[in-house]
Amino acid sequence: MPELPEVESIRRKLVPMVAGRRIRDVSAVARNYAFLSDPGIIRKKLSGGTVEAIERRGKYLLLRLKQRGALLIHLGMTGQIFSHAYEPDKHVHMTLVFAGLRHPVYFRDPRKFGKLLWLDPGEEYTEPRLTKLGHDALSFSAEYLGKACRNRSVAIKSLLLNQSVLAGAGNIYADEALFTARIRPTRRARTLNSKETGALTKALRNVLERAVKLGGSSINDYIHPDGSEGYFQIEHKVYGREGAPCLTCATAIKRSVIGQRSAHYCPRCQR
Ligand SMILES: [Zn+2]
Repeated sequence: MPELPEVESIRRKLVPMVAGRRIRDVSAVARNYAFLSDPGIIRKKLSGGTVEAIERRGKYLLLRLKQRGALLIHLGMTGQIFSHAYEPDKHVHMTLVFAGLRHPVYFRDPRKFGKLLWLDPGEEYTEPRLTKLGHDALSFSAEYLGKACRNRSVAIKSLLLNQSVLAGAGNIYADEALFTARIRPTRRARTLNSKETGALTKALRNVLERAVKLGGSSINDYIHPDGSEGYFQIEHKVYGREGAPCLTCATAIKRSVIGQRSAHYCPRCQR
């Protein structure tokens, strides 16, 4: 499933390809689950438009067109966006042909959980999918996290996964960051001191940035349209290592369920 680092990797790959380019032609399949806006409307809004920027909000991408608005894209569980030599199959929902770009840009999703929504100018400030998001997990500050923890009695792990607090943190990265910061995932958020929120901020941003860079180097595999193979994996220190020895102290890694999500931690290193 594409998490923030995969989405950011795709964004960084797409920007040099399409920023400043004009969309010459758009084709879209008949309306299906992927289209929150009518495909005909999306086609009309995109055709002839020039890409001003591609931005990311949590796990959403915004393809922003000069003076027209933006296409909001969510990749769901299996969505892909790519541009290389490719014979489109039935899972391609939309194809964008850019002036001067060798191959079209394809939006493909075998399971149709990805989403496409057109936003007219200004609508991004009222669209609930965007307005409900907290600060981006790649760029939040320690002060922001410290404030978010204040007076909150939820487990710190749940707070990190709360999209209205941090957009796009993700289960794996939250576990890894808590290990690096030596904080037990079950700790009540309000019990963290400023040194701990500082360490956690640094750890989470680092693990996400490292994953983005890994994704950046394996992005061609990741977006290769032959199924889900190629989703890169960062080497995990605790995530998915239940019962295996902690890499720091050799104590067996524990797994528990917090707020219906699994959490992995070292009971000795993390307090
Ligand atoms: Zn340990």
